[in-house]
Amino acid sequence: MNDPDVVVVGSGPNGLVAAATLARQGLRVMVLEANPDRPGGAVGSGETTVPGFTHDLGAGFFPLARVSSAYRDLPIEQHGVEWLSADVESVHPALDGSSASIFRRDRREGARPDHFGSEADTATWNLLLDVHAKHEPALFRALLSPLPGIGNWLGIGLIRLLKLGSYFLSTSGGLSRRWFESEAARRVLPGLALHADLGPSDPLGGATGYVLTFSAGTVGYPVPRGGAQRITDALVTLLEKWGGRLRLGARVERVIVRGGRAVAVRVNGGDEIPAARAIVADTAPSALLLELVGREHLPNWAARAAAKFEPGWGTFKVDFALAGQVPWRDPRAQQSATVHLGESIEDLARFTAEVRSGRLPQKPYLVVGQQSLFDPTRAPEGCHTLYVYTHVPGRIECGWDAARERFADDIETRIEGLAPGFRARVLGRKAWAPDDLERWNSNLVQGDLGGGSNVWSQQLFLRPFFPAFRYRMPVAGLYLCSASTHPGGGTHGMCGFNAAKRVLADL
Ligand SMILES: Cc1cc2nc3c(=O)[nH]c(=O)nc-3n(C[C@H](O)[C@H](O)[C@H](O)COP(=O)(O)OP(=O)(O)OC[C@H]3O[C@@H](n4cnc5c(N)ncnc54)[C@H](O)[C@@H]3O)c2cc1C
Repeated sequence: MNDPDVVVVGSGPNGLVAAATLARQGLRVMVLEANPDRPGGAVGSGETTVPGFTHDLGAGFFPLARVSSAYRDLPIEQHGVEWLSADVESVHPALDGSSASIFRRDRREGARPDHFGSEADTATWNLLLDVHAKHEPALFRALLSPLPGIGNWLGIGLIRLLKLGSYFLSTSGGLSRRWFESEAARRVLPGLALHADLGPSDPLGGATGYVLTFSAGTVGYPVPRGGAQRITDALVTLLEKWGGRLRLGARVERVIVRGGRAVAVRVNGGDEIPAARAIVADTAPSALLLELVGREHLPNWAARAAAKFEPGWGTFKVDFALAGQVPWRDPRAQQSATVHLGESIEDLARFTAEVRSGRLPQKPYLVVGQQSLFDPTRAPEGCHTLYVYTHVPGRIECGWDAARERFADDIETRIEGLAPGFRARVLGRKAWAPDDLERWNSNLVQGDLGGGSNVWSQQLFLRPFFPAFRYRMPVAGLYLCSASTHPGGGTHGMCGFNAAKRVLADL
């Protein structure tokens, strides 16, 4: 395709959702992806440790894909995505033997009456979850749609909206203390809020913690059989079915602006590809505006805003190939899709302070994914994969080359504490420090997995910066659709979906 209507820069889930949505409307769409080997950005899988073990490279669990209208519109299930779920969604064990677990509502009859920390906390949790479930579709419609979307917010109902407002404006630690009495239950919400760079005392941490905790109890933490790449492959199939094209190994180095309008892109130091109607970028905002467009084409305020956009914390990820499943002391953890390691709200606050001050955490909070427990295609028979990540400073003084394997050893020790015998089962491992992640995908700036910090000043109308919260960039014909736009990180595809709708409306 030499004369596309729309060029999409980057094939992460948002880029592909935007591209497929536009192609479906009859536009000629070309997606240009820098990675020479595979599309999908942070949604993909591969054999990174030992042959025969399939590891998710970035995203591992997809509750947001199940509640998103982007994926309802794009029928990925008809193109190779089969969702699988575990018996338990998330377990939060501690060294003192206490534990809290999230079961989906449709599975909770089998759960112990004290599964959420204590009997009283389990009763509170079940009640809160039942109320949430009633309002969940309206809530996700409001959270994921373009702003301001006042009608969607009012659709939740005024009383519920006020309640949610009070939860969302709380810190995750504050909300947890308000609801629960046992330490085990109290560490669940802040432990899940820490998927983003939001510690137990941070404003808006209640919102992220609420969404991730309660969606675990409704849709759970499903995975696609065969690995995350299946989601990307299905999106590419849909794109091509509707006439769109994908080119791998095509890094866009310049957006060409003529007469104040973005009209073409330059790829790999030469090749110029015109875009007759629009350019949609699935990139970081600073990369798009300051490197690809250039300050000379921008109003000063936009250049300043792009330069100020902050990445979230770095991510440190380890893929493990195991000779058997993790021998967790807590039997529920042996059946769970995810296990979250963090002893208490105070422990998670200490971890937050260490990362914020630029130090490597002593006893890292961990997100552990056990996909192969319920997707046997991920590893040879009797063997398992393990997916582990934590947050770290994006850059450290001694450099990651010196610290990478030592810090991966610390992570092993942390798991061994709750699962004696774990280390003996490790057949192979691959550690990814923040700079490895950024080399692999330039959107993971300093290893940030969320497309920019989740601090309040980069949320809602301020994401990526005001007044560009509706996907239009300050150059005519240019749009941003990455996780750096509202509604932010995660594999919901809604940044891409909303941006595509914006382009269609403008055309
Ligand atoms: C370790 C990790 C764990 C995660 N876990 C989860 C999870 O469990 N669940 C969940 O929902 N989400 C998770 N996420 C977040 C989720 O993966 C991201 O929010 C999502 O992938 C963002 O999609 P995107 O399309 O905005 O960008 P990306 O997926 O980052 O894709 C951007 C693409 O654009 C390409 N690109 C960039 N610049 C250029 C250029 N100039 N020219 C050409 N191509 C370019 C990149 O190569 C890349 O392929 C995780 C992410 C990571 C890294």
